Amino acid sequence: MRLVLLGPPGAGKGTQAAYIVERFAIPHISTGDIFRKNVKEGTELGQKAKDYMDKGQLVPDEVVVAIVEDRLKEKDCSDGFLLDGFPRTVNQAEQLDSVLTKMGVEIDWVININVKKETLIQRAVGRRICRNCGATYHITFKATKKEDICDVCGGEVYQRNDDTEETVTKRIEVYIKETQPLIEYYSKKQSLITTDGEQDIHKVYKDILAALGE
Ligand code: ADP
Ligand code: AMP
Repeated sequence: MRLVLLGPPGAGKGTQAAYIVERFAIPHISTGDIFRKNVKEGTELGQKAKDYMDKGQLVPDEVVVAIVEDRLKEKDCSDGFLLDGFPRTVNQAEQLDSVLTKMGVEIDWVININVKKETLIQRAVGRRICRNCGATYHITFKATKKEDICDVCGGEVYQRNDDTEETVTKRIEVYIKETQPLIEYYSKKQSLITTDGEQDIHKVYKDILAALGE
């Protein structure tokens, strides 16, 4: 199964991705996670991406596409994958199409998670992430059992630099201008599934599975 998760920042893409990749045994490719790992490790890529991320802007297309292309060529992607947070511009989507065509494969489904702006801000500002394993929590909607300690691995849970109300607002503006046009792009290709992301986490997952015919 080759899937793309589409939706504004804070919609619940990473949360749903964790369930979906487990169910279908496919790799989870989150460009945001790849950039955060590189920032943490102080690599050249991390240094390139950090300023854009902190300002809520998109990292340039050529940088992101090259990373995803390399990742998709790895062996674990041969039977399927889930892309989360990529593509984010029409140009990225067109380049993804040509990479996949060269590989002789195509996207099966694009899952769009629909959530209104006020909910997005509340979700992103309350989001907490495990520094060690990347598990996602929310101070109200998915709290850790012990304060600031990851339920999965016992790592330290932190708030992302770009999860302030100001930066999230900027990221939503960027989403509307740059990423929202992908809804039309993929609906023309008849591969789009839309889910109501305002519902609780498990109901959203149930709807996604049903739409995938599971
Ligand atoms: P995205 O990857 O789209 O930016 P996340 O999956 O990280 O979004 O979710 C953003 C925040 O909202 C996280 O703190 C997560 O725990 C919480 N969250 C995700 N889905 C829901 C939901 N359906 N209801 C309530 N909170 C949610
Ligand atoms: P995310 O974890 O998906 O919220 O992404 C965090 C940040 O990483 C974004 O605000 C961008 O700065 C950068 N980023 C992630 N994915 C992409 C992408 N596909 N294109 C450009 N920038 C990206």
